[in-house]
Amino acid sequence: MKDKNNNNFDNLKKQNHYLIIKKKENDNKRKATRKNIKILLLTKIEKLRNFISNQLYPSHFSCIFCGEEITKHNQYNTCEKCYKNLPFIKNKQICLICGSPIKSLAEICEHCYNKRPYYNFARAVFEFDSEISKLVQAFKYNNSKYLFKPLSFYMANIYKNNDFNCDFIVPVPLSKEKYTERGYNQSLLLAKQLSYRINIPIKENLVVKIRQTLSQTMLKSSERKINLENAYEVTNRKEIKNKTILIVDDVMTTGSTINTISKLLINYGAKEIQVLTLAKTNLYKTKKETQNKQFLNLIFDKLEKLEIKYKNKRLKRKELKTLNKQLKSIKEKYEKHIKE
Ligand SMILES: [Zn+2]
Ligand SMILES: [Zn+2]
Repeated sequence: MKDKNNNNFDNLKKQNHYLIIKKKENDNKRKATRKNIKILLLTKIEKLRNFISNQLYPSHFSCIFCGEEITKHNQYNTCEKCYKNLPFIKNKQICLICGSPIKSLAEICEHCYNKRPYYNFARAVFEFDSEISKLVQAFKYNNSKYLFKPLSFYMANIYKNNDFNCDFIVPVPLSKEKYTERGYNQSLLLAKQLSYRINIPIKENLVVKIRQTLSQTMLKSSERKINLENAYEVTNRKEIKNKTILIVDDVMTTGSTINTISKLLINYGAKEIQVLTLAKTNLYKTKKETQNKQFLNLIFDKLEKLEIKYKNKRLKRKELKTLNKQLKSIKEKYEKHIKE
């Protein structure tokens, strides 16, 4: 490579000498040669970058969702087939505050209507379905750190195409115990990559988690609030005065954690809180699923009771009739519920 460059340099010198005689021609030629060298060097940079990035991230050119090799590379590391089927929220009707997909024509969901959150608005890239859940599991528990970069491109896109205007980013912190156990904070890694893409600074340790809490997923909404009380603290209150802050997290479920942090920041003088997450649970769907489960449990309870009552009994004609009636009624209720 060195010899080649030297040769190029010699050529340049020779050309220079010749061009002293034909000045105008000379200038043009010199420009053209410089342009060629520049193109050559730029190609080398590109090649080197691809080489290093292949060494660092072996899965660099395979789809982060299905693992298939990508023939046409893109910043999202996603193959065309998966990209088409991703549960993007941007294509759906959402609550203007929490960003949850809603089916009604209302602009604000029931949840936000009943109690307005402390943050101004939240947006997410994906609806949290089983595919996205697998991805989140991978970077949360399997240490698949190569995922953060392509995912941050998805998030940056949402930032740029919505009304975000933040002064800096705050990732949702983990407690010290959790951090030691996992070795990294997935929200911080996402936020760092995002910060780089949208060119907005990140303040890593401005909000800290001072108390370990129970996993929110197992708790009811009222228990979640108690669980989170006094769990977070702001380390430098001056820094947040009159600032518009972007909270970044991987998944937003009911939003209790993010709302708790938002409340803290607003109470200490922040001007506005905006939220960006990779995924958002569809609250409508969750509510329906919960109702479904409760209903099915009720039916199973009834059937079990009937079974116990009649199992070891010789049934008279009248009793048989009653049982038949009861079963019919349960079946009808079930069918009606399924149709709703
Ligand atoms: Zn794929
Ligand atoms: Zn809402």
